[in-house]
Amino acid sequence: MQVTLVILKPSAIQRAILGEVISRFEKKGLQIVGMKMINLSDEVLKIHYSHLVNKPFYGRIKDSMQASPVVVMALKGVDAVNVVRKITGVTNGRDAQPGTIRGDYSISVQENIVHASDSYETAQTELARFFTTDEIFDYPQINIQSIYAND
Ligand code: UDP
Repeated sequence: MQVTLVILKPSAIQRAILGEVISRFEKKGLQIVGMKMINLSDEVLKIHYSHLVNKPFYGRIKDSMQASPVVVMALKGVDAVNVVRKITGVTNGRDAQPGTIRGDYSISVQENIVHASDSYETAQTELARFFTTDEIFDYPQINIQSIYAND
């Protein structure tokens, strides 16, 4: 089992599709083990997007990510990091496959609805960035046999 981080970006909130997007993860069989609404500070955003902070478009990313609160989620499942990235789709909503969240709900590189950790190591760092250990819950997923059988 892995836990990974998803951020439902301001574009998801403003488009009023939070429920639909969360529902996709739930229906896949992922277990929500942490979830809260927060504002992203300048400091946290700089660390989170440190690989983009020197790009000319960083200011636009910052404005976009601070346009409203975001919802951060911790999702648990077998191979969850990879599974969630696949459900999310590639960065540019115009290139993302139909059936993915970005492919179905966005037509923009920037306003692409969700962030998802891109590796197991990144997930550990990002979960620790947004959640304290007591905000990640360990509870039985009662239908786990129907979700995985003996995988
Ligand atoms: N982004 C952007 N323009 C770009 C590249 C990225 O606006 O040319 C934004 C976009 O919202 C993206 C985020 O910055 O989701 C982080 O970019 P990254 O390359 O890490 O892609 P991701 O992991 O989100 O697919």
